[in-house]
Amino acid sequence: MAGIYIHIPFCKQACSYCDFHFSTNQKLRKPVIDALCLEIEMRQSEICEPPSTLYFGGGSPSILDSQQLNQIFRSLSNAFDLSELKEVTLESNPDDHSDEKLALWKSLGINRLSIGIQSFIDRDLKLMNRAHNAQDAQLCVQKARDAGFEKVTLDLIYGIPNQTSVEWRSNIQRAIDLNPQHISAYCLTVEEKTALHHQLVKGEISEKDDEIIEQEYLTLHHMLSKAGYEHYEISNFGKPAHLASHNANYWKGLAYIGFGPSAHSFDGAQKRSWNISNNAQYIKAVNSGGQFLDEETLSAEDRSNEQIMTGLRRSKGFDLEQLPKEHALWVQQNINKLDDQLKACIWQNERHVGIHPENWLLADAVIREIMIDS
Ligand code: SF4
Repeated sequence: MAGIYIHIPFCKQACSYCDFHFSTNQKLRKPVIDALCLEIEMRQSEICEPPSTLYFGGGSPSILDSQQLNQIFRSLSNAFDLSELKEVTLESNPDDHSDEKLALWKSLGINRLSIGIQSFIDRDLKLMNRAHNAQDAQLCVQKARDAGFEKVTLDLIYGIPNQTSVEWRSNIQRAIDLNPQHISAYCLTVEEKTALHHQLVKGEISEKDDEIIEQEYLTLHHMLSKAGYEHYEISNFGKPAHLASHNANYWKGLAYIGFGPSAHSFDGAQKRSWNISNNAQYIKAVNSGGQFLDEETLSAEDRSNEQIMTGLRRSKGFDLEQLPKEHALWVQQNINKLDDQLKACIWQNERHVGIHPENWLLADAVIREIMIDS
């Protein structure tokens, strides 16, 4: 078993770009945690081997108080053998880095913080309606280190409206100066039904052009590579020996189990499932012994396509020999038919096929052409 994922669907306030499953109404926090612990108990037989990673995501797991986090850890250790856990990550927001919370996380065995900094500029943070300010962003890493956290990963966002290229470079440099072992950077996308989309429709902001986004991505790639970070996945950069294990296991197609509303699970072979993305319905279904998840069985084509999709976003690419023979042949034919522009984006050796990191923004177009029909 690769890993356990815990989804905490609560946040202090709604970031303007976010379309994850979360609620800012804290009334259901206790019943959701109770149901999540019951789900852990009910599904304990699904894990046969000790997990190697544990990941608290959301939402904002750093919002939880001591009682709630202790309750979840008690349920996990009653249900599973946690003795082989190597990486225990908690997503934290800079404004939650109080001395008390940091000490609590450390005492529970959390050994890696994924900090949602996003930008060091107050104007950007205000635009995105983040709960923290530039000062929190600047101080949170040192606070984490003072509390004994050696492994820290920072999240940044590029493509932010009104942010200049000089400001983007300065954001990257400030992240480098904080010397985290790992950095993730995502492009701001405007999803429907978000506050950002509303602002866009009203003409209050405008999206950045694709050429500017590409420039920002290339600046990120070059600056972080020069600073010693390996660009090992489209959105992820790590110092040697500090690549993220939990997410890497997803990309390798290993088994994982997810608890909490909207959490996904995969048996490492064919079965994928996802929990209800509604807090009240999740509580009701778990407590009444009802259906709280949907599942699907992946076909051989689906599995091959997943390997292609995740592989083409990673520096290692995908392994043709791990695909069924007829799929490998099909994929090779598709590669041979690529037009010159897309062909120039990829590399291929005896077994592996990948995309050069500088071309990863074209990954979707390459994947569409290479994937096999299912
Ligand atoms: S803190 Fe994270 S999950 Fe919560 S609203 Fe902001 S981006 Fe979304």
